[in-house]
Amino acid sequence: MTKKLAATSENLQAVVALLQQGEVVALPTETVYGLAGNSANPAAVVRIFEAKERPSFDPLIVHLASKYRTSNGVSLKSLAEATGLIDFNKIPIQLIGPIEALLTKFWPGPLTVVLPKTDRVLDLVTSGLPSVALRMPAHPLMQSVLQASGMFLSAPSANRFGSISPTSAEAVLAELHGRIPAVLDGGNCEHGLESTILGIMNPTTLTILRPGSLTQEEIQTTTGPRCKIEGPAETIASIPPQAAGQIDSHYAPRKGMLLLPESMKPAHLPLLEKHFADAKPFGFLLFQKPDPDLNKFLHHGGHSIFLLSTNSNLREAAQNFYQTLRSMDASRCRTLVAEPPPTQEGLGLALMDRLKRAAKKKGPKFP
Ligand code: AMP
Ligand code: MG
Repeated sequence: MTKKLAATSENLQAVVALLQQGEVVALPTETVYGLAGNSANPAAVVRIFEAKERPSFDPLIVHLASKYRTSNGVSLKSLAEATGLIDFNKIPIQLIGPIEALLTKFWPGPLTVVLPKTDRVLDLVTSGLPSVALRMPAHPLMQSVLQASGMFLSAPSANRFGSISPTSAEAVLAELHGRIPAVLDGGNCEHGLESTILGIMNPTTLTILRPGSLTQEEIQTTTGPRCKIEGPAETIASIPPQAAGQIDSHYAPRKGMLLLPESMKPAHLPLLEKHFADAKPFGFLLFQKPDPDLNKFLHHGGHSIFLLSTNSNLREAAQNFYQTLRSMDASRCRTLVAEPPPTQEGLGLALMDRLKRAAKKKGPKFP
């Protein structure tokens, strides 16, 4: 039995007590729900991997209380001293300023940075990598638990490995019911997509290991032109992958998903119906309301439409993204057909990344 706990002060205390016993608990964050455990307790970290069936080569993000920033912002040297988690001397000098500018602006928030680690961080947490991924989440409930427990919490998304990330307490139950003692209910997540993960590429370059809720444009504007920000690599070059976001099939619905090469048009439908006659009806995942012609066409074929937004609002599309995939999985449609976001700028980059990986599993290919 997994208890769904309302956000009361009693329940917050109960959550902290569970974490102190080495248990794992699902907690809301502003990105998606995380499955949290004490980063310093190997038994708790093992429980996270077991509950998720996550392979041990996929490292965890460590979450920090907001007390590690001051009103002046974040200093990496102070952060290293106060947490004992980061090896400050191994951070390339030219990147200290840009990273501090980013953390000062976006912490607490949906930004994760991968920095050289100290021996204090368990190898289990980083899958043996010499670096640790750190984030200061903004969600007030997550922050309350971090403050009250005094722990660093490892908290990957609270879903079974490879499946759709949860953006509500109900979605956590759908993924992990019976595998964890409790989920703290914080309602729907504000962003709906995971944090953006930034790593050090070389002494002058930061690289986006996973596109996420914070856009590449916001990052580049903050660091200025002197620091190069590299976009996410198109292919997976390294084994073990540096970020789960780099694993080919991920964030995937149970049903097959086909990703269209362009926005849905009436001309696509006969082609789809011909090539995938055995996979009907389709569920169409769209970024905006179809025009009346297309609408009539789709409904006529017995297909259904799932809107991420009525008017291509990408913030709204991101918020709705994972929940909509869940609804499509639960619906009567047999195949998911997704159109790409209208742009790959801003949040379009992360949305396209998730769609590509969701479609990788066993998705049919567009004829
Ligand atoms: P999730 O926990 O499901 O949000 O995924 C967390 C992501 O952080 C995974 O993609 C991890 O591979 C990535 N990550 C955690 N630690 C590191 C690290 N030391 N270096 C690179 N990526 C990391
Ligand atoms: Mg995940």
